[in-house]
This record gives sequence, C-alpha cells and structure tokens, in this order.
Amino acid sequence: MQIGGLGLLAILALGYFAGIDVTPLLEQSSVPASSATITQADKRAGMFVSVTLADTEEVWDQVFRAQVDGAYRPATLVLYKGVTQSPCGGASGATGPFYCPGDRKIYLDTGFFITLSNQLGAKGDFAAAYVVAHEVAHHVQNELGILGKANSVRQRVNQAESNAISVRIELQADCYAGIWARQAERQFGSLEQGDLQEAIHAARQIGDDTLQRNSGRTPMPHTFTHGTSMQRVRWFEVGYQSGDLTACDTFSADQL
Ligand SMILES: [Zn+2]
Repeated sequence: MQIGGLGLLAILALGYFAGIDVTPLLEQSSVPASSATITQADKRAGMFVSVTLADTEEVWDQVFRAQVDGAYRPATLVLYKGVTQSPCGGASGATGPFYCPGDRKIYLDTGFFITLSNQLGAKGDFAAAYVVAHEVAHHVQNELGILGKANSVRQRVNQAESNAISVRIELQADCYAGIWARQAERQFGSLEQGDLQEAIHAARQIGDDTLQRNSGRTPMPHTFTHGTSMQRVRWFEVGYQSGDLTACDTFSADQL
C-alpha cells in the first residue's frame, strides 16, 4: 500500500463527498507496488471524476424533475486502478469504462483518461467529462427501465440483431450525454470555447468504424455495437439541441 497520510485522506474524502466508491483503490495491497502507487495523475483523475459526477447529478435531478415522473437516484462510481471485479465481470484497462446495471455502478479506471488523450486522440477535459456523462447516461437508461428491456430482447435474438440493439442503446446514451452538455451549460455556465468540439471529437474518435479502421481493419457494420462516428456525433447533437428525453428515442428512429 503506497498511499498514506494526506493522500489516503484525500481519496477517502473524495469518495465520501461524491458518491464514489474508492475501495478498489484502497484494496491494492496484493498487487505489485508499482501499480499500487497512487500517482498525482490518479488523484487528478479522481478529483476530476468527482466534480463531473456531481455535475451530472445536479443536471439529471433537474431533467427528471422536468421530464420524468419520479426522482433521480444517482449512480455510484467505482474508481479503480489496474483491475477490479464487478457483477458484470472483471474490469480492467482493457474493458474500458462501463456501467453495470447489476449493482448500478459505473466502473472507471484512472488510467483511462491517459488512454483517452494519448491513444484515442481525444484531448481535453470536456472529452473526459463526455465519457463520464456517457456512462451516467447508461445509468439513466437503467433508471428509466429502457436498459433492462433492451438487454432482455438482446438475449433472445442472434448476434447481428443483438449488436443492432446495442447500437441503439449506445446512441441513446450519446444523446443523453448531449442533454447533459446542454443542461450543464445552462446550470453552471461551465462550457468554455471549444468544449463542445472536444466532446464531439471524442464521440467521433470512439465510433466503431473509426476504431476498426484505426486498428487496421476494414469496418464491418454488422459487428458494430456502438454506432459509427457520424451517428455518435449526430445523436449527441440531437440531445444537445433538444434537451428532450423523448427526442433521444433511438429505438423507434428509422434513420440512425
Ligand atoms: Zn456505452
């Protein structure tokens, strides 16, 4: 265990205030010291995530008040380094950030922010905030009962059909992330010049076609699970421009 004194307290305080579960960060005594070391970059990531998560809570609280019959129950975010377990399976740098409906938690690796800017070429704090907002959007889908329904259909169909449903789930999450961006701008005035472009650029960089092309493969639409770069940007903008949950109904859209 490499964190002690003030570092440990800072991380505990962070978790306490922001609804972030930091136990994986604190339970690292069994792994090699090098990967257990909590670096400045990890702390910055933790701080950033806690602020972003708090922002999403305020935003979704507002949106639920205005558009949904029922209060918003925030998600918990599990911030870890290296590997950890979830009811949805193991989490690691290789899985990337994900939301697990089983325990209503978002799993986020501190190293992801470095990957995002170095390997995926999506620099900027708003790009990172967009990723957090996208995962929170899956939680919103879960709270609205959409995720459970879609996933139960996915279990009854073939792989290609299951992938197609996955694309609609993901594009809706991008659309919800757009709603968050719009609301965040209104509530906090927190968007700087170029922020929106950062988010749109991040959405573009993580489109299935772009990811497959960048890894030297020919894009194969039937294997897409998140949608193309163009679709991801488009749905983010639908959410951003409308601010309306019903406008994000990717499941009944003819054209994605
Ligand atoms: Zn997603």
